[in-house]
Amino acid sequence: MTAETLAHLMKQSNRTVVLTGAGMSTESGIPDFRSSTGLWRNINPRIVASTESLQKNYEQFREFYQTRMNSLNNCKPHEGHLILADFEKRGLVSLIATQNVDQLHQQAGSKNVAELHGNIVTIRCQKCGKPHAKEQFLNNSICTYCSGKLRPNVVLFGETLPSEAWDRTLHEIHQADLVIVIGTSLEVYPVNQLPSMSKGKLVYINREQTSTSLHYSFDLVLEGSAGKILADVYQELGDFEK
Ligand code: NAD
Ligand code: ZN
Repeated sequence: MTAETLAHLMKQSNRTVVLTGAGMSTESGIPDFRSSTGLWRNINPRIVASTESLQKNYEQFREFYQTRMNSLNNCKPHEGHLILADFEKRGLVSLIATQNVDQLHQQAGSKNVAELHGNIVTIRCQKCGKPHAKEQFLNNSICTYCSGKLRPNVVLFGETLPSEAWDRTLHEIHQADLVIVIGTSLEVYPVNQLPSMSKGKLVYINREQTSTSLHYSFDLVLEGSAGKILADVYQELGDFEK
């Protein structure tokens, strides 16, 4: 079971969906959810990254996201992100559905990206919904229209997923011949339901097999880092395009 097998599956597939999680971004220096180091270590995201915290503990909420947003300044897409963007250009990937909120896929040049958990790069007013500049949130401003609280366009615990991104993903997943799941523990509902909604082949690329991932019947499991495995697949594909 190697990168060669995945390259072969990609050549055969007419529609390939890539589903990514925090493990796709760790090689860019962004800690994942369960990392023992970094931002999440002393913080329970279910408490801080929630609608309740936005309403009742806004200072802590704002500081948490300000820190996360500022830390993105030092991060850029890694080779794996660039390879996925190249695959899209060559007709080898139709959609990237991501749980990541860092917009590194877009920065790498991917065009068709469904942000299932929103992003922490753009800002809106919680009350009236109007968009604001990132700097206004970072400067502790309030909404210029209604004085409401500013917040990132991220999906908080207690909120539903953006319907446009979700519907687009479902549409693609239903038609996909191949779904490649990269760097996610598959523990977060409802995104973890997506792989089993596909009739296509299922591939899992992750540093480890998590307890949840063992419940899925993957056709191929590649254990290792996303960047390295994608680089191997890239090599195997040569200049193949659709
Ligand atoms: P998770 O932390 O639950 O799982 C990440 C998985 O990726 C782990 O199983 C880990 O072993 C694996 N992994 C780590 N580095 C890897 C690498 N270089 N190559 C391959 N695999 C690697 O993350 P999740 O499943 O995405 O769920 C976490 C939630 O937290 C999501 O809702 C997400 O929105 C949010 N989150 C986002 C970011 C981000 O935007 N970059 C970062 C942290 C958390
Ligand atoms: Zn407002």
